[in-house]
Amino acid sequence: MKQMNNQEMLLRKLPGVDRILERIQEEQEYTGTPKSVLVDAIRFVIEKKRSDILQTRTFDDVTDDINIDQLLSDIRQKIAMIMKPNLRRTVNATGVVVHTNLGRSLLAKKAIEQVIEIASNYSNLEFDIEKGQRGLRYSSVEDILCEISGAESGMVVNNNAAAVLLCLETMAKGKEVIVSRGELVEIGGSFRIPDVMAKSGCILKEVGTTNRTHPRDYEEAINENTGLLLKVHTSNYTITGFTADVSLPEMEKIGKKHSLPVMEDLGSGTFIDFSRYGLTREPTVQDSVRAGMDIVTFSGDKLLGGPQAGIIVGKKEIIGKIRKNPLTRALRIDKLTLAALESTLRLYRDPKNAARCIPTLRMITEPYEQVHQKADRLVRNIEELHDSRLVLNIKKISSKTGGGALPLLDIPSAGVGIRIQDMTADGIEKAMRANDPAIIGRIEEDLYILDLRTIQDDEFSIIVNALKNILA
Ligand SMILES: *Cc1c(COP(=O)(O)O)cnc(C)c1O
Repeated sequence: MKQMNNQEMLLRKLPGVDRILERIQEEQEYTGTPKSVLVDAIRFVIEKKRSDILQTRTFDDVTDDINIDQLLSDIRQKIAMIMKPNLRRTVNATGVVVHTNLGRSLLAKKAIEQVIEIASNYSNLEFDIEKGQRGLRYSSVEDILCEISGAESGMVVNNNAAAVLLCLETMAKGKEVIVSRGELVEIGGSFRIPDVMAKSGCILKEVGTTNRTHPRDYEEAINENTGLLLKVHTSNYTITGFTADVSLPEMEKIGKKHSLPVMEDLGSGTFIDFSRYGLTREPTVQDSVRAGMDIVTFSGDKLLGGPQAGIIVGKKEIIGKIRKNPLTRALRIDKLTLAALESTLRLYRDPKNAARCIPTLRMITEPYEQVHQKADRLVRNIEELHDSRLVLNIKKISSKTGGGALPLLDIPSAGVGIRIQDMTADGIEKAMRANDPAIIGRIEEDLYILDLRTIQDDEFSIIVNALKNILA
């Protein structure tokens, strides 16, 4: 019975929201904070305390007074949490360059500047300045897309998933689309070729087998209801061993013979030949256009290193039809994205410049020696903490491009392994993730590792500070 009494007494001692509000509002720090935020935070913390008291079963756990200072400190913390944006920066120390969960690509400086310019001012988004009349939203990127890809025409939508859906719907709604069985991919976030096909109103016609598809498989599947031949770049996996697939020129030949359009979903899409940097060659957009694909679709924020977008290049006549499709309006690209995309694409006029200025490309192509130097520098910076509980060592590890591209490619990289006395690797990982901004590393063989390939130069101090706080 004593316990009940104690609980009741504590509940009665809980301060009212108004009383705490008055106290908090007196604090200078909160003069600009909306009252609704303060009230929400106070209610939350008091409610939490109330339920804590009610849930305390054993007599010993119930202290006989409410610690007001602790309550206030919890409230301040809650206010800070509510006021912070939910979408916020993180440090990507995973070594996965195009990390889908961490925002895929960082924009080039030029692209960021252009986003600010277009966001802060009116623009000719849909206005033809020369003629003084309404213009096309896509005209700002069409020229540059054609210039670097060699295509007749081009346009952009919200993302590549939208691009594939839109192209299928425009070219082959109600008709059969022939795809090799080995190319029916699923990529992260539940994009599956058979499902997109169904949504676009097309009928999937699978041909060949998982490991082998031949030109005759396409030929034999063609009938009067065939609308399109589709090739999907199996970007996130590879089939090896006894395999055969139909090359782009062979697809083009079959399409031409039967007067059928041929489309390729390149997935990642790149304008750069990665083999020049000692990496595996990824088929380029130019390859597909040159091979005579009528339509090619790819992402703006994977290997391309731009903003999220779905890029469509190909034959003028088909792009014209796609533009008139009512779906296009529903999938249209935003002006900030368009600004960033145009600036990013312009950097590709000079491939060397692109590799230098576009963060995604710079990180993927950065030589091992340079990454190792960065690891050395980070170690020296951390060592300035002079804490004997810290043990650091540089390890040769592998980075990945991510973004579902070059799945087999291990890029040699340098990582800093961190051990802290009396802490497990899991514990360090958790503590680094709890830092603000969150630092996302990885654990290999029970060692917490920061991969320097994806860490930006201005993030060294964030890492050093995080470790300092963990050790404190
Ligand atoms: C990533 C990918 C997509 C989807 O692109 P998003 O830009 O993420 O919408 C479609 N097809 C393939 C083959 C892909 O790799």
